[in-house]
Amino acid sequence: MAFDERAVFTETLETRPGRYPCPKCRRIGEYSIRWVRHSKKDRPPAGADAVDRAKFAKLRDYLLRLDDEVTCKACSKRFEIPSQQSLMFVDQFAGLPNEEDLEREINAASGEPEPAPAPDSKPALPARFTRKSTGWK
Ligand SMILES: [Zn+2]
Repeated sequence: MAFDERAVFTETLETRPGRYPCPKCRRIGEYSIRWVRHSKKDRPPAGADAVDRAKFAKLRDYLLRLDDEVTCKACSKRFEIPSQQSLMFVDQFAGLPNEEDLEREINAASGEPEPAPAPDSKPALPARFTRKSTGWK
């Protein structure tokens, strides 16, 4: 069966800053861009078989951009945001420093054991669901 996006993702609206150059006046402005965050649910939909579960395990959280264009703050021209930047996987942000990483570094520096894994790094499913993934790589 094909997954219904809404059965496996929770959608939440969020606003992120984006910096884009205006094609007319070349000035780079910072804009508030609306995105829909798709957060994978804790468990696969009811009635999912082994294949569905394996498929589900591979899904990643992602952000889909809602805004296609912005209005230049300098010259008021409307221009399109490059479309190749309309989808981002959440783990693309992993390289950016965040509070959890800082906390881990502080703990490492002070010789304390690592805290429990961060919520976004936990495996999505218990091993018994992913082991039977026949044909799914
Ligand atoms: Zn402009």
